[in-house]
Amino acid sequence: MSKDGTSAPPRSPVPRSLRIGSFLLSSLLTILIVWLLGFVLDDIGDIDGPTYQAIVDEYVDESLRERAADLELRIAGIETRVARQGELQGDLQRSMDNARETMQQMMELQRLSLEQETPPSEAERAALATAQQRFLEAQNRFEAANAEIASSNETKFQLRQEQRVIEATIETQARPADDDYKERRLAHQFRLASMQLSFIVPLFLLAAWLFWRYGESAYRSILMAMLAATFWKVGGVMFDHFPQEFFKYIAIVAAIVIVLGFLAWMLRKAVNPSRQLLLARHREAYRGHVCPVCAYPIARGPLKFALWTRKGPRLSATAEPASGQEAGADTPYACPSCGTTLFAACRRCDAPRHTLLPFCEHCGDELVAAEPAPAS
Ligand SMILES: [Zn+2]
Ligand SMILES: [Zn+2]
Repeated sequence: MSKDGTSAPPRSPVPRSLRIGSFLLSSLLTILIVWLLGFVLDDIGDIDGPTYQAIVDEYVDESLRERAADLELRIAGIETRVARQGELQGDLQRSMDNARETMQQMMELQRLSLEQETPPSEAERAALATAQQRFLEAQNRFEAANAEIASSNETKFQLRQEQRVIEATIETQARPADDDYKERRLAHQFRLASMQLSFIVPLFLLAAWLFWRYGESAYRSILMAMLAATFWKVGGVMFDHFPQEFFKYIAIVAAIVIVLGFLAWMLRKAVNPSRQLLLARHREAYRGHVCPVCAYPIARGPLKFALWTRKGPRLSATAEPASGQEAGADTPYACPSCGTTLFAACRRCDAPRHTLLPFCEHCGDELVAAEPAPAS
């Protein structure tokens, strides 16, 4: 097929800059279309599916769920209270330490004054009594906080027990929800894939039809871009859903069909090449002085005694000056190897002409019949 592009001079050659420009622009167009299709497909893919919690809620008794939530709240409340009591105990501990220190200092003073046989002053005794009272008070409140923490913990323990039982019940009730969720999830995926495919596949088929129908027109590059972009996205959607058995088969069958289509097209092209391609081949062969059908050298006219090298015929020194050969150049000629008539009398001017090329080199007569596979 690359030959088709490199040797097609009959059409007016497109300037190189224009060819590169249109190639770049159609590549850009392909990317933009891929983007656009991607946005639409993503939006389809974003449609919300079933949520696990909603399905679990369908299976579990509402009263149980409420009780569980209530327990959770109460346990949290108890934990806050216990934490508060703990803080309080910290404060009380500090004030007890303070009071104890004060008491020890007071008692030390009293002991000293007794040793010196002077009775402790009224103020000293009062201070000692106050310290003692503060210490006892703090100790009482510390004990009370301890008792409250203990009872709170006891309540919490019982609530936890109940919570465990309820959670176990909920778990038992919710067990079938797992399978149900998986099933619904799968159904949702399937629906999404179907929606995406029913969006992208018709576009792909439309692009393929347009390319098949108008592929030879001037807008070939645009159609090519559409075809490439939609094909790419079909592949993308297939790939996204590849793990699912169903789509795996669709993907592989579609890939085989597409590859088969291209292969068949290429084989047909090789066996039955287009008029243009065949013409190009014939031109090349005539120019290289070999039979266009079997590539056997055309030993005609001055080339009769030439030696064919890889680069074409090389005239031997003896053959070149022979003027008598000149006349032989303009005679009908058939390939001695395959029998194809390569030069025959023109129907208009009667001079020998190339039978496998469209025009007579003497009068310019166009020989439609000689052209392979005419379009009409
Ligand atoms: Zn031949
Ligand atoms: Zn002619």
